Amino acid sequence: MEAENMELKLYNTMTQQKEVLIPINPGKIGLYVCGITAYDFSHIGHARAAVSFDVLYRYLLHLGYEVNFVRNFTDVDDKIIKRANENKEDPFELSKRFCKEYLVDMEALQCLEPTHQPLVSEHMDHIIEMIKKIIENKCGYEAGGDVFFSVEKSPNYGKLSGQKLEHTRAGERVAVDSRKLNPADFALWKAAKPDEPSWESPWGPGRPGWHIECSAMSAHYLSPKFDIHGGGADLIFPHHENEIAQTCAACEDGGVNYWLHNGHVTINNEKMAKTLRNFKTIREITERYHPLALRHFLMSAHYRSPLSFSESQLDSSSEALYYVYQTLQDLEEGLLPYREAMDEDGGKAEQTAEAKEVINKLKTEFEAKMLDDLNTAHILTGAYQDALKFINASLGKLKKMQKKQRMSLLVSLVEIEKAAREVLEVLGLLTTLSYAEILKEMKQRTLTRAELTEEAILQKIEERIAARKNKEFEKSDQIRAELTVKGIALMDIGKETVWRPCFPSQANSSN
Ligand SMILES: [Zn+2]
Repeated sequence: MEAENMELKLYNTMTQQKEVLIPINPGKIGLYVCGITAYDFSHIGHARAAVSFDVLYRYLLHLGYEVNFVRNFTDVDDKIIKRANENKEDPFELSKRFCKEYLVDMEALQCLEPTHQPLVSEHMDHIIEMIKKIIENKCGYEAGGDVFFSVEKSPNYGKLSGQKLEHTRAGERVAVDSRKLNPADFALWKAAKPDEPSWESPWGPGRPGWHIECSAMSAHYLSPKFDIHGGGADLIFPHHENEIAQTCAACEDGGVNYWLHNGHVTINNEKMAKTLRNFKTIREITERYHPLALRHFLMSAHYRSPLSFSESQLDSSSEALYYVYQTLQDLEEGLLPYREAMDEDGGKAEQTAEAKEVINKLKTEFEAKMLDDLNTAHILTGAYQDALKFINASLGKLKKMQKKQRMSLLVSLVEIEKAAREVLEVLGLLTTLSYAEILKEMKQRTLTRAELTEEAILQKIEERIAARKNKEFEKSDQIRAELTVKGIALMDIGKETVWRPCFPSQANSSN
């Protein structure tokens, strides 16, 4: 694709339309994404936000931008304090522990490390400074050790979420704090309560309200005005609405150019909630499914669409990815015998016209989808599948070909592999391991799900061979069918029978 066509369009929640990304500083992007409140293992909703914005980050890097990516950790919060008290644990120890666990999950999901991952507790000075400015600018007021933001002083309040100020008052179930000038006013600073961590401030000891941290940290690490702010759609109101109000009240030219929000995850089409006991942590899922399969599943819908989690969706993702890695692994092996010849004569050979076409289509289709608001749904289908088909078809032909023709196909295959691999890299669907090692890890998860050992499967294969020798075909078919239901396919390759993961289904058992 020509460089001038590489315009990235992103859906901006603020303007409710797709807009071409134009950075404030050419070639550079400031990106802030709201992180987690660290008090427990992270769930699949957190994984979706992380992967959605990791795809954005990776794609911006792919387009050649220098990206300053900030994702915070909330380590001062009611939920952390409550959980720490239940555990009889220091709240900072608790949050530190779960920050670490989050990073383990992020690494497994191949989410690149942001440029900065600030903690609220380490930015108290910046937070207090910002609150002071808000008060100076007459947009905040103190009331008995608490500080509130005055929403009426914020002319654009409600613009991001489309909430009207009068509506934010209606239907309030909680009794309104009588010290608030407007019921919609929110806390910038909360006076200290007994047995809670607190910091000294001009308004007495206390701790920040939730929203101010993101305003203070984005202004500190980026600038009051920056390019892209991301987060889950559930954060639009009140969190992001309040962030805008705070930053603009504290800094004259504050603001965000593009607001991006990812959709939520449901479990089997039900809302995910701890009370429904359908809460899925990343850790629970990646015990049974490869983290790359989870990542593939999270990218299988457009990032703004809702996404319904089910094991069968993960089975589909596992199967699709396994086929991709297996094909690329077969290619790697298929090229091995010709490596020496390619080193000698490869430089003179030219790619076939068909291969050029396959590569061109693969690249064009990939960029077109990604430039259109990061449309990762069905990303490894279409031209990508055509490329895999081309590889599989070519591998069978190599042996029988004439030397010159063969060299031309070999250099073509090398280029196709590069193009296919680059797509996987931009999407974060590779690790530092080889294809063979990733396949092995995926097989291991298949065994876990099937509750079988490798030995047990080999035993079944032996039984099937024996049955076939005795012409007990019904028995041999039954052995195969039983394994297919558990997501294990037996493949007869030449005289050998091997097993591979497959979509666990009754329907597949006959073929
Ligand atoms: Zn935030």
